[in-house]
Amino acid sequence: MNYTLTDDHRQIQDLIRRVAKDKVAPRASEIDRTAEYPCDMYALLKELGLFTLPFPAEYGGTGSMLSACIAVEELGRVCYNTAYLLVVQWIPFGAILAGGTKDQGDRYLPGLASGELRAAFSTTEPQSGSDVQGIKTKATPVAGGYRLDGAKIWCTNSHVADFILVAAKTADPRGKSEISLFVVEKGAPGFQVGRKEDKMGARGIPSCPLFFDNVFVPEKNRLGPEGKQGFKVVMEAFNQSRPVIAARGVGLAQGALDHTIEFIQNRAAFGQKVSDFQGVRWMVADMAMQTEAARQLVYRAASLVDAGVSGRELAPIAAMAKCFATDVAMRVATDAVQLFGAAGISAEFPINRYFRDAKVLQIIEGTNQIQRNIIAGSMLGKPQRQ
Ligand SMILES: Cc1cc2nc3c(=O)[nH]c(=O)nc-3n(C[C@H](O)[C@H](O)[C@H](O)COP(=O)(O)OP(=O)(O)OC[C@H]3O[C@@H](n4cnc5c(N)ncnc54)[C@H](O)[C@@H]3O)c2cc1C
Repeated sequence: MNYTLTDDHRQIQDLIRRVAKDKVAPRASEIDRTAEYPCDMYALLKELGLFTLPFPAEYGGTGSMLSACIAVEELGRVCYNTAYLLVVQWIPFGAILAGGTKDQGDRYLPGLASGELRAAFSTTEPQSGSDVQGIKTKATPVAGGYRLDGAKIWCTNSHVADFILVAAKTADPRGKSEISLFVVEKGAPGFQVGRKEDKMGARGIPSCPLFFDNVFVPEKNRLGPEGKQGFKVVMEAFNQSRPVIAARGVGLAQGALDHTIEFIQNRAAFGQKVSDFQGVRWMVADMAMQTEAARQLVYRAASLVDAGVSGRELAPIAAMAKCFATDVAMRVATDAVQLFGAAGISAEFPINRYFRDAKVLQIIEGTNQIQRNIIAGSMLGKPQRQ
């Protein structure tokens, strides 16, 4: 498998790196401090046409997951929140592209691609996050569609979303409940977005609870066929998009390393630069080595997606990329704070933002324990219950 960057990849890397340095980096600390949704960054990504990057040329994209990872890495290197803006748009896009009907594709994908429409995705509920099968939100069949009842939490981007892909349980003819996804549009009667969480990291893109009280959803808004079959297609789309989640870890680790190098070269102790202490140099070498290893795993996973690999062959590699890259992000950010000394704790320096955002990465989009379960399951099968 060859994943040497092509001229096209390099062009995207150069462009995003420049934009990240000139336009995104100067805003990063303020977005984190104020926890205000960065409308200016959204407008910038829209102007650059990045909302369609991993998707087929008919939507204006490159059709390349590797390009998407490179873009997320470069933005995440300076600002977690701006990189997140791309990912929250891509997740519903990928789900509709994979599992939606032609009508749903026509209704939603051009708007998501141009940035005219914004979306969010919601499975998590107060009693069930990792255990998706434990959700309680119900979709009861009625004439012409369904009635949704229940509550969700931690739905990121929901406060600005024109529509949200909501997981809810339907009953099959045997009375067994199965999960389907429904497009719930902003302003649907009985649907409410609650107050945003006060978060430690990922502060610029709010996450909110959702409330559904007898919300009517027309049948044409169910994503694909009802139940297992439809949900499986969407889960595979998530599998395919996992490398971009991992790419955020690579960008974050690289950014933390960039700041560290600059800091220790300008800080003195015991009459010499901090960067001249051998113990410090070895820490920097380890940080660089881990970041590069994570990058290679992420690029490989993305290249497999681009080569059409999917399902059971892709799942463990995609899980390894997410788990490894985000664990590396946490380790590198922790060492970065250590090398800043007290300045690492001060809000005046950017490095504690990397530390807080890294912790989020180990939890979202499938915690790193769940990724390890996927990897172990690919080798050992499902564990037997005692
Ligand atoms: C910033 C942020 C944004 C988010 N955005 C969204 C969003 O847009 N949409 C959405 O639907 N959700 C979102 N979430 C929710 C996120 O997906 C869940 O938090 C995550 O899936 C974990 O679920 P939980 O918090 O309920 O933890 P739990 O599932 O309760 O897990 C608690 C702990 O137990 C561990 N654990 C659970 N099961 C196992 C197991 N089988 N083996 C080993 N360990 C296990 C977990 O890894 C974790 O450490 C967001 C969360 C955050 C923090």
